[in-house]
Amino acid sequence: MEATRVLPEEKEGDKRARTVAGLVNSIETLEGAGFLVRRPFPKASFSEFDPFLLLDEMGPMTLAPGGAKGAPDHPHRGFETVTYVLSGEMEHKDSQGHSGKLSAGDVQWMTAGAGVVHSEMPSAEFQRTGGMLHGFQLWVNLPRQSKMMQPRYQEIPAASIPTSRTEDGLVTVRVIAGESLGARAVVETVTPIIYLHFTIQPGGRATQTVPPEYNAFAYVVDGAGLFGADDERGADGQMVMFASDGDEVTIANPADAGAALEALLIAGVPLNEPVARYGPFVMNTEEEIYQAVEDFRSGRMGAINF
Ligand code: FE
Repeated sequence: MEATRVLPEEKEGDKRARTVAGLVNSIETLEGAGFLVRRPFPKASFSEFDPFLLLDEMGPMTLAPGGAKGAPDHPHRGFETVTYVLSGEMEHKDSQGHSGKLSAGDVQWMTAGAGVVHSEMPSAEFQRTGGMLHGFQLWVNLPRQSKMMQPRYQEIPAASIPTSRTEDGLVTVRVIAGESLGARAVVETVTPIIYLHFTIQPGGRATQTVPPEYNAFAYVVDGAGLFGADDERGADGQMVMFASDGDEVTIANPADAGAALEALLIAGVPLNEPVARYGPFVMNTEEEIYQAVEDFRSGRMGAINF
């Protein structure tokens, strides 16, 4: 006789909130032509959070006219760079012929794949006026079989980024990748990625489904919040790593907080592959790194000529 398999019915109450595995403080370092970033990783003691290779917060800082700096022509291979601008204006050009201007709320998801040379510079207008600069760059690793894929460029203007809010109106979310509060991102990712920007008013609590196989962390952009099943505190500039002990994460802003909490929630399925990295190249083996350097030096990643 064939056994009848009874699958447990999924109910709201069956979800388990992840606990917090640890807090990571950011270091301050100079990037590109010399602009200051806050960086939870990579650093000497913490090289990656699979599948993520780097998170940089640029600013927030007020720049004098002429004070904006960027990252002139440089290559990438083997991963994706995701730029999210909150304030200021950046211009992008690459060897695939793509160009774009990123203003407040815009996202650029660039898949370097086999290799691109790009420049990330303040726009001429922002350079002239100066002003508030604030933004993020996230590096998303590519699996072995996709590292040499055709480069891809996705630009999502602020108005095209889906937003949603909770019924009580205390939590709003901008859905850059993945799905949240019934809204689904427009960007295409190579591996499953969740990238959300939550704004949580005092007394609000965000509850987000994150399947157990995902590595997940939050980064506090502004304010301080309570994270995970035990309401652990994390503040501005800190990365909060969630344990893999549940299928949802919670972020709350205490009722007595004086201001809204701004936090990024970023999660992805770990690749569990060897990582060989050298500056702007991230591959699986040393040989592939030598090849990347050689391909860049001999011009096989192209150049920006427009
Ligand atoms: Fe770059």
